[in-house]
Amino acid sequence: MEGEVGIHPLSESPTAAWKEISQTQKLIKIKVKIPQSPADENKLRFVCMSDTHSLVRNIVFDVPDGDVFIHAGDFTKCGQKEEVVAFNNWIGSLPHRHKIVIAGNHELSFDAKFTHIFKKKFAHKEVGDEVAHYGKTKDNISDAVNTVNIKQFLTNCTYLEDSGIEICGVKIYGSPWQPEFGDWAFNLPRGSECLSKWNLIPSDTDILITHTPPLGHGDLVCSGVRAGCVELLNTVQTRVQPKYHVFGHIHEGYGVTSDGKIIFINASTCDINYIPNNLPVVFDMPLKPGF
Ligand code: 5GP
Ligand code: MN
Ligand code: MN
Ligand code: MN
Repeated sequence: MEGEVGIHPLSESPTAAWKEISQTQKLIKIKVKIPQSPADENKLRFVCMSDTHSLVRNIVFDVPDGDVFIHAGDFTKCGQKEEVVAFNNWIGSLPHRHKIVIAGNHELSFDAKFTHIFKKKFAHKEVGDEVAHYGKTKDNISDAVNTVNIKQFLTNCTYLEDSGIEICGVKIYGSPWQPEFGDWAFNLPRGSECLSKWNLIPSDTDILITHTPPLGHGDLVCSGVRAGCVELLNTVQTRVQPKYHVFGHIHEGYGVTSDGKIIFINASTCDINYIPNNLPVVFDMPLKPGF
């Protein structure tokens, strides 16, 4: 493949990898601002959210109108059918003409290969804590894991999973995978397994949606470590070069940055305490000729 991406020697140590890689990269911080007027006629408006974790009833802002609504995963707490139905109803109430959704690690029911529950420790803590933290019972979680054909309940949006869609000539691609952390859905070991998913992203993608951040952008965890994927950064910078890369997952990494070429958007609506406080991120893209 042209511009093939290799495995970085520090692939499994993202904090150390970024220390090295950041020496030769620009990192520009961009302020999040909700536009006060509609998009120009010759532009397409995108509105991005992520990590709403079944808490949309608690949001205190209005979701800005636009042409395309994007949700970058973790729309539930554990992917239970009731949560998916509620999310589908909510997204159905939004005014956007196009709505695009990917799954995150919390959408257990969307990952057909996710069958183990409480095999090791579930999530970031021991089971007892975890259940308290998410307000979920073991029964809720087994329920989610045992639900089949869950995608049928997402009737009010386009669900992308290692797949793409073209809207007004803009090529959009979505992927739920992330470097593994605590036995969740769509977890993969860092390095070649993650890269094999990023290798599926078409090189002509204009807007990339992943649940995980790439290394170095919106991936700084409050403990001070970096959690982004090294091979995802490499893939977007050297091969795909999308105009926008939208993601979430690391709630405390919310915000917009750039390397001078690509705009990176961590659209996590929930903050580190699972309070849905962060505003949607809006951007406008010029329409291609003929649209
Ligand atoms: P979630 O459980 O919603 O996927 O992620 C919630 C929080 O867990 C993130 O905001 C971050 O603090 C932490 N987290 C998620 N993935 C990772 C990871 O790969 N490494 C570290 N250190 N923390 C993570
Ligand atoms: Mn999340
Ligand atoms: Mn490209
Ligand atoms: Mn997540």
